[in-house]
Amino acid sequence: MPQIIDGKAISTAIKDELKKEVAENNIKATLAVIQVGNDPASTVYVGNKKKACEYIGIGSRSYELPEETTEAELLKLIDDLNRDDGINGILVQLPVPDHIDEHKIIERISPQKDVDGFSPESVGNLCIGREGFVSCTPAGIIELLKRSGISIEGRECVVIGRSNIVGKPMALLLLANNGTVTVCHSRTVNLKEICKRADILIAAVGRPRMINRDYVKEGAVVIDVGIHRMDNGKLCGDVDYDDVSDIVSAITPVPGGVGPMTIAMLMYNCVKAARQVK
Ligand code: NDP
Repeated sequence: MPQIIDGKAISTAIKDELKKEVAENNIKATLAVIQVGNDPASTVYVGNKKKACEYIGIGSRSYELPEETTEAELLKLIDDLNRDDGINGILVQLPVPDHIDEHKIIERISPQKDVDGFSPESVGNLCIGREGFVSCTPAGIIELLKRSGISIEGRECVVIGRSNIVGKPMALLLLANNGTVTVCHSRTVNLKEICKRADILIAAVGRPRMINRDYVKEGAVVIDVGIHRMDNGKLCGDVDYDDVSDIVSAITPVPGGVGPMTIAMLMYNCVKAARQVK
């Protein structure tokens, strides 16, 4: 039986630690959450983020803007929030409507309030090993590994996916933790062979159950970032869990693996933002 990495339990432990820190140190923090339009998935994510703030004892301020909001209006709101001393973190729920340039929006958020860790300054700090906000999903994966007693140092790590929010920061974090890192993508030749070398395989490919036992070395640790809703309403990941579970040493389930960690690390970043102000 493989070790099932319990993201739900680990994320709850992190939120409880933060809750304690906030209460004991009387930390006052408020997260501004901006949603443009009413995409149902985004509404669920935003709701979960607000609930998590409440759980750990920090405030949240919601900005639910209509779909027709212009880029200039959104930038003006971000400018106002950047100047607002009562706000420690600013989060714009992505995706934004097509008429708004996502990059411009991300770049406008003050690096001190960039709790998603998406801005060029945050990514640059990660790249050169400086303190800063780290993208929540990859940061959560590092916590999952550490808190499950899985060492990264010296191990062969393969990341499938090179997106700005998952694959690239994931690779940088594994490198910072002394892993030997390979990043794969849609143009990678010999994907199966490369994945089969991995002691730690991170699947952030966005394709339901693509990663089966042909990609996995016996005894590997497999982290599944993917989330897909199937026709029967159930969730599945990028990994074919049933196919690989008898050969891996440890694996994250979907749901209950990486998913809950993203919000826990967002809360971590919010508390960190508030600590910087103190
Ligand atoms: P993207 O679609 O932005 O990136 C997918 C990456 O996979 C790209 O780099 C792409 O390569 C690569 N890829 C696609 N097809 C193949 C293939 N056949 N072989 C090799 N590589 C391939 O996705 P994200 O990084 O945003 O997300 C990845 C997954 O993680 C999704 O399922 C998403 O829903 C999930 N996710 C989960 C989160 C959580 O909280 N658990 C948070 C964020 C994402 P190329 O660059 O060449 O196009």
